[in-house]
Amino acid sequence: MNKQWNLHFKITNWCDLNCKHCCECSAPTQPLKLFPLEKIEKYMSETASMDTKPNELISIGGGEVMAPYIHNQENYIPNVLDIIYKNGFVPTLKTNGVWGNSDKMRIKILSDIAKYAYKYEKLVTLDISVDEFHNNQSGVVKIISDITTEIALSYAIRICLVGFNTQKSLVVLNNLEQELSKKGFYVIPNEIGDWIIISPDGKNTMFIYNDFTSSIFNKGRAKINNVYTNSGQPNNDGYDCLVLDNNDTAIYNYKYREQIKNRSLCEIINSFQQTIK
Ligand code: SF4
Repeated sequence: MNKQWNLHFKITNWCDLNCKHCCECSAPTQPLKLFPLEKIEKYMSETASMDTKPNELISIGGGEVMAPYIHNQENYIPNVLDIIYKNGFVPTLKTNGVWGNSDKMRIKILSDIAKYAYKYEKLVTLDISVDEFHNNQSGVVKIISDITTEIALSYAIRICLVGFNTQKSLVVLNNLEQELSKKGFYVIPNEIGDWIIISPDGKNTMFIYNDFTSSIFNKGRAKINNVYTNSGQPNNDGYDCLVLDNNDTAIYNYKYREQIKNRSLCEIINSFQQTIK
């Protein structure tokens, strides 16, 4: 690998939603089957000997990344964060945010992830889906409200709202802005569409990144239904991307797929590069 690349761990295919565009075909009927922690540890420690290391931001998703909390495995995500941080990287958690509706779970998750951000003195990112497919608005409002009003959380957690480059996604984003305004938050969009949010008491400010540049791809259930199509490449940031999933599969640039079978990260990448030649 001689160009920049992203590393993503798909920890489960279980999800509490069942979005019809889901390119992972995730659903509540899928098994939890978490990515083994010792394997995450193995792959992350192997990055130390790589000539071209992955991008500093390591993403973790599913399925729903907070599924371990929902299934009473509360130590799993803190352990993942610890492994990623201690190897010199920074975690990005990709979530639908539905867990924000549960006060108990929201407090637990936000305090857990802030704890690791403080321990390693680097912000953790929450990438939250906001688009026409996700029925998650109320949970997302509560997550943003908590982080914006709690100064200890706002110093530890970075929020990025992620949607599609469609008019419908922007309508959902506007609805979210209105819901926050109804709760007394001041939402000030900047010239490129990110938000500065001010808490109702005016004492705390939070910056929220909005990424609504992705196209909808013809994958997963979308492919089955043959409804949503796009001819472009999903990794539109120009980086190569390696996904390692909870079924011992490696997926390169969303296109090439191999079983991992106890190989190292270097061996996996070399194998894909031989395939592409
Ligand atoms: S929330 Fe995400 S992972 Fe879950 S079904 Fe929807 S698109 Fe798929």
